[in-house]
Amino acid sequence: MRWENLTDESEHGRAADAVLFGADAVTTRTFDTPEFQGITFHEVRARSVLNRVPGASRMPFEWTVNPYRGCSHACVYCFARKTHSYLDLDTGIGFDTQIVVKVNAPEVLRRQLGSRRWQGDHVAMGTNVDCYQRAEGRYRLMPGIISALTDHANPFSILTKGTLILRDLDLLVRAAEVTDVGVSVSVGFLDAGLWRTVEPGTPAPERRLDVVRTFGEHGIGCGVLMAPVIPFLSDDPAQLRATVRAIAAAGATSVTPLVLHLRPGAREWFMAWLGQHHPHLVRRYERLYAEGAYAPKWYQRRITRQVHELAQEYGIGPARAGLARRIRPAEPAPAPTEPEPVQLSLM
Ligand code: SF4
Repeated sequence: MRWENLTDESEHGRAADAVLFGADAVTTRTFDTPEFQGITFHEVRARSVLNRVPGASRMPFEWTVNPYRGCSHACVYCFARKTHSYLDLDTGIGFDTQIVVKVNAPEVLRRQLGSRRWQGDHVAMGTNVDCYQRAEGRYRLMPGIISALTDHANPFSILTKGTLILRDLDLLVRAAEVTDVGVSVSVGFLDAGLWRTVEPGTPAPERRLDVVRTFGEHGIGCGVLMAPVIPFLSDDPAQLRATVRAIAAAGATSVTPLVLHLRPGAREWFMAWLGQHHPHLVRRYERLYAEGAYAPKWYQRRITRQVHELAQEYGIGPARAGLARRIRPAEPAPAPTEPEPVQLSLM
């Protein structure tokens, strides 16, 4: 692993991890339990965990915390795969199985939140990789992170595909009593066959919708990021309808569609998967993504319009959102901490 090279100024983030973790601070572990078979954990001690988002003006948040890098949820299309290359790790199977764990994230966050320079801005989690991936079951970093944010009444949000977040339900309910807490779950489609092959390490879509339901029952409104909508595999009108209907039935306060995009790192891995599982679609994808990482605007607009119409039909929207505890908009703040390379996936 290229820990010693992390001072390189790379395209996405100047690889400040050399500042965050010294090369001698890495402990590598494997565990024998079936759920962690084939996975290697690289434990590091971070010097900073509050990361300022580059180009934050385009994002609804300016600060993130990511206790992990790499993700055993192993979504083939994962937009964050490229970030593994900054550590000289493989962006394919390596992203799924070589997981970096910032074992001291809760204590570092608590210290940073207590700094006089920190102004209490909104902190987003799960924007790069999933903070409730399987590793969290063992390392249990999120309870400490949530407690630190709660003790400082600091607003925050979490985006996840992990049902493990239910473990921390009580902590999140308590946090929502003192600050603005947002929870969003990512569910792009319901198709079980597609889920098993393209999101092989994730809980089933229905289980994720159970998370939405449970949070709603406990007074924390939960939005759904309908991502990704996968061209020719999950974009059929009947599929979109079934997905939005299920999201509405779970009590989601909002639904936001996001069409698959294929940045370098994800693109090669996804196209190899496509060639294996749906070879007849390869040419159509090459045409649809001929201009780059994004599907054409006309396609994105069509999906967005269809989903919004369905959301209206099934009653997802402002009326439900009114039940949710809202996230305070991010305010401009000075940078008190060292930045970390961030490539937002928004899962
Ligand atoms: S899309 Fe999200 S859940 Fe899936 S592998 Fe990437 S970070 Fe993990």
